[in-house]
Amino acid sequence: MVETQVTVVGGGIVGCAVADAVARRGLDVVLLEREPALARGTTSRNSEVAHGGMYYPPGTLKAHFCVTGRRLLKDFCAVAGVGYRECGKLIVAVEDAEIPALTDLLERGRENGVEDLELVDTTGVAGLEPEIRAVAALVSPRTGICDAEGVTRALADRAVEHGAQVLTGAPVMGLAPASDGWRVDVGSGDRREGWSHTSGWVVNAAGLFADRVAALADPDAGPRQILVKGNYFAVAPRHAGRVTHLVYPVPPADASSLGVHVCLDLAGQLRLGPDVERLPSDTAPEDVDYGVDPGRAAAFLAGGRRFLPWLAAEDLRPGTCGIRPKLDADGFRDFHVAPAAGLPPGLLHLCGMDSPGLTSAMAVGEHVAHLITAARAA
Ligand SMILES: Cc1cc2nc3c(=O)[nH]c(=O)nc-3n(C[C@H](O)[C@H](O)[C@H](O)COP(=O)(O)OP(=O)(O)OC[C@H]3O[C@@H](n4cnc5c(N)ncnc54)[C@H](O)[C@@H]3O)c2cc1C
Repeated sequence: MVETQVTVVGGGIVGCAVADAVARRGLDVVLLEREPALARGTTSRNSEVAHGGMYYPPGTLKAHFCVTGRRLLKDFCAVAGVGYRECGKLIVAVEDAEIPALTDLLERGRENGVEDLELVDTTGVAGLEPEIRAVAALVSPRTGICDAEGVTRALADRAVEHGAQVLTGAPVMGLAPASDGWRVDVGSGDRREGWSHTSGWVVNAAGLFADRVAALADPDAGPRQILVKGNYFAVAPRHAGRVTHLVYPVPPADASSLGVHVCLDLAGQLRLGPDVERLPSDTAPEDVDYGVDPGRAAAFLAGGRRFLPWLAAEDLRPGTCGIRPKLDADGFRDFHVAPAAGLPPGLLHLCGMDSPGLTSAMAVGEHVAHLITAARAA
C-alpha cells in the first residue's frame, strides 16, 4: 500500500490552506477532493469578507484565527496576485439604543487585536457613506473582500509547488486505524479507480460533510453539525458604487449571525445577506436545495431599509445562498479543531467551520501544520 505522511480530506479553502502549510514544511501531502474541482462547497457560497475579528469572544479560536488569518490572507493575495480589496466596514447603529453594542464591539475588537477600529457619529458616517442612514458606526478600515475561489486555487497551486498531490474526483469513503497511522479508502471518480493508502496523519477538512467523514472512523463519536442556510438577494446593478464599504447592522443579541448586511464584490456590485434559515435537523448536505425563496424578499427589504432608506422592492432579486456547518443552531460556538477523541493518534477533525472560516483558513493551516510537525518531533 502506498504511504504518505499527511492526507487532507476536502479541497475547500480550509483543506487547501492546510495542504499548503504542511507541504511548505517539507512533508508529503495528498489532498483529496470528492468533487471534480476545488472550492465547489461553502468556499464558493459566502460573503467573501476578510473579517476584522471584533465579533468573537476573546481567547477563542475564532478570535485568534480570524485576526491572524486576515493578515495572512491579505499578504498571500498580494503575493499570489489574487483579488483582494481593503474596502473597510461599518457596523451601524440606526438608533441610539444600539450605540452601547458598538462600544462593546470596539472593546472586544481591541482585546482581540483588531487594528484601527474607530467609533464615528452621524457626521462621521455621512463623511464615509453619504447614502447610509445611521446615528453612529464602528469603522473597521482593515476589513476586506477577496476572491475566495481564487485564493483556494492559489493555495493549492503553492502546495503543489512544494510537492503536494492535489486530486479531485477523489471521495474519501473509509478511514481505519493502521499500524503506522490511518488507512484511507478512496472511491473511484470519473477518471480513476479507487484505491487505499496509509497516512501518518489525516486532516478532516470536509466542510459540510466533516461530521460524516469523522463518522467513517467512528460512527458513534465526533461532533454533529447542524446545517443553517444563508440566503442572499442581489441589489439592482444601477446601485453599484452607491455604497463603498461593507455595511452591517448591530448583530442580533443571540449571536446566531452577523445580521443581514451589505456585501460588495470586487466589481462593486451590492447584495444583501445572508439571513438565517434553519433547515430540518435531518437535512443531509447532499439534499440541500440551493434555491433562494423569492418570498424572503420582504424581510430583506425591511432589514436593508433600516440603513439604506433608498432601497425599493424592485431593487431586490433572489441571489445565491450558502450553508453554514454549525455545531449549535443558537449562540456562539467555537471552531472544533481537535484530534479524534478516543481513537489512535493522527486523525484531526476540523468541524463547525462556519464564519469566519474563510478569513481564518490560512491561520488554521499554520496551526494544523504546527500540531503535526510538533507531534512528529516529539
Ligand atoms: C452564507 C455564508 C457566508 C459566509 N461568509 C463568510 C465571510 O464573509 N467570511 C468568512 O471568513 N467566512 C464566511 N463564511 C464561512 C466560510 O465560507 C467557510 O468557513 C469556509 O468556506 C469553509 O471552508 P471549508 O474548506 O471548511 O469547506 P468547503 O468549502 O465546504 O470545503 C469542503 C470540501 O470537502 C469536500 N468533501 C466533503 N466530503 C468529502 C469526502 N468524503 N472526500 C473528499 N472530499 C470531501 C467537499 O466537496 C468540499 O469541497 C460564510 C459561510 C456561509 C455559509
